[in-house]
Amino acid sequence: MSKLVGKVALVTGGSRGIGAAIAGRLALEGADVAFTYARSGDRAEAMVRAVEERGRRALAIHADSADPGAVETAVSLTVERLGRLDVLVNNAGVYEVGAIDRLTREDFEKTVAINLRAPFLASSAAARHMGDGARIISIGSTFATRAPEEGLSLYSLSKAALIGMTKGMARDLGARGITVNVVHPGPTDTDMNPASGPGAAAQLRSIPLRRFSDPDDVAGLVAWLAGPEGRNVTGAEFTIDGGANV
Ligand code: NDP
Repeated sequence: MSKLVGKVALVTGGSRGIGAAIAGRLALEGADVAFTYARSGDRAEAMVRAVEERGRRALAIHADSADPGAVETAVSLTVERLGRLDVLVNNAGVYEVGAIDRLTREDFEKTVAINLRAPFLASSAAARHMGDGARIISIGSTFATRAPEEGLSLYSLSKAALIGMTKGMARDLGARGITVNVVHPGPTDTDMNPASGPGAAAQLRSIPLRRFSDPDDVAGLVAWLAGPEGRNVTGAEFTIDGGANV
């Protein structure tokens, strides 16, 4: 596992859940890893130790994705402290659900700021520093293209927009050897969607493989895209959901 030796990755929302699994896996593959967090300082410190235990440099950056300046600063801090930027993973996200006649303008602004504006700004800032072989990977959702339950209009729109952004950036950055892809997890066992939570049984019934993804499942796919074998894949969507979206 040394496909990313010499590379530097930045993972947004790397303190917990899928982002933490991705940060740990990229370190296992040899990358030095910066990650952002907003509230979970203790978890961020533990993540720094986990990356360092893998023999890699770690940088925890307190940066609320709702703050556009903080997102851009996270990119420049990564380059300043770790020397370069090869892999950006736009992972930080919030899951605000509610019926369309209940959601407010504030709900809209918060979700769009964190789930969409932050990936756009981070990608834009990162692209200015990236060279041949770099990767931009965004974490979407199976709810980007399907709404199998009520209350998803806002979350789904924020994730659907990542698909268009991914395709446009793939076109812009292809000539520079930079790939851009989006990974759509289905139900994944994290604080956001615990496999033992009240909504889990209903989700499981809709999944042919009858299991939630483990965050490490998603991290494995991201690591493959980030590695050398992903070099000819760009502008693509990858669904990892136990078959829930069939
Ligand atoms: P969690 O809620 O378990 O973890 C979210 C992570 O994002 C934490 O590290 C959190 O950091 C960080 N984060 C949240 N808000 C902000 C913010 N404003 N600024 C910076 N960091 C922030 O979520 P998951 O790991 O489950 O989700 C990760 C991604 O995967 C999200 O984009 C989500 O939409 C997507 N996804 C998840 C699915 C699931 O079933 N779990 C299914 C499909 C997609 P902190 O605690 O420090 O604030």
